[in-house]
Amino acid sequence: MKKKNFFAGPSVLPVEVLEEIKAQIVDYNGQGLSMIEASHRGGMFEEMYDECLLTLRRLMGIPEDYDVYFLGGGATLQFTMIPMNFLLPGSVADYAKTGSWANKAASDASKIGKVNAFFDDKEGNYTTLPDPKSVKPSEGASYLYLCSNETIGGIEWQDFPETGDVPLIADMSSDILSRPVDVSKFSMIYAGVQKNLGPAGATLIIMKRSMLDRRNENLTAYMDYGLHSKNKGLYNTPPVFSIWAVKLVLDWVEKNGGAEGMLKRAKEKSSLIYSVIDSSDFYRSPVDKRYRSRMNVVFRLPSEELEKKFVEESGKEGMLGLKGHRSVGGLRASLYNALPYDDVVALRDFMIEFERKNG
Ligand code: PMP
Repeated sequence: MKKKNFFAGPSVLPVEVLEEIKAQIVDYNGQGLSMIEASHRGGMFEEMYDECLLTLRRLMGIPEDYDVYFLGGGATLQFTMIPMNFLLPGSVADYAKTGSWANKAASDASKIGKVNAFFDDKEGNYTTLPDPKSVKPSEGASYLYLCSNETIGGIEWQDFPETGDVPLIADMSSDILSRPVDVSKFSMIYAGVQKNLGPAGATLIIMKRSMLDRRNENLTAYMDYGLHSKNKGLYNTPPVFSIWAVKLVLDWVEKNGGAEGMLKRAKEKSSLIYSVIDSSDFYRSPVDKRYRSRMNVVFRLPSEELEKKFVEESGKEGMLGLKGHRSVGGLRASLYNALPYDDVVALRDFMIEFERKNG
């Protein structure tokens, strides 16, 4: 029996995509070659890659003057590449410290240049966000950085700040393509693909081409976005397997209503769980209600013993990955695009029953 996969990443993939990979892994479309043994230069890989990028442009409404490509190195590499390229001597970068992932990015940037943390909810344990309307970039800042969804803390920006001439950069690793986003508001969006887009290995980069004029040109090859832009991410060997699977996931997203369809799914699924939390004194959400994540629902039980029991018993019912991140404890249900609605219904029912038995 297929398990119900609530892992935070790597995470659930559409079963149709796994079946398609199984069917095509030896012989891609009757071409007598597997996609994962083909050269990344020309031929069937590049054809598939170009289609993948076009599908993404369509699904996200990415304007023509933006580059779209994939890199390796995980989303974590971007924590370094962004300041290396754009945080030049004498300038400052604004960071919203909203939890584990934004904080790691800010920490890496501070080793390269001057960081201004215009928001830091350390005291509140990273359970809330700034009101986007109140966010004002520093004078002449080289960019303003935020993480659209904190995967560990379970908080998500619902709207984004207006930053005027200051480029807005967002890590969308854990909510990419789960809702329509106005890409033109951002100078750069990036996302590790291993949550909503495919298996681990590739990182999606979407960048306004004019950002390249602001960059440090004196960088080693791989660190330089200019070089990747010229080569649409194919300067060196790309993570071909991951990219092929992303292409299939994007086709699945398109068949299932695109970004609007994913938003509808995300709202329906997350409200199943939040409504149990809100109608009970047994379950508790630590997160500011206004900024609750639709992707990573974080919750607590009255004691750590009960949390342990919850993880054990849900595991026996085939529900995996409900333990909260080791840095914060508690419980977390990741409800990415590919997670079937019925799996969330099963979790909801399990939660109600668990409270009845233990509450
Ligand atoms: N940003 C966010 C929001 C994440 O959730 C993660 C990983 N869970 C990362 C960055 C780091 O990604 P990677 O492991 O691909 O480096």
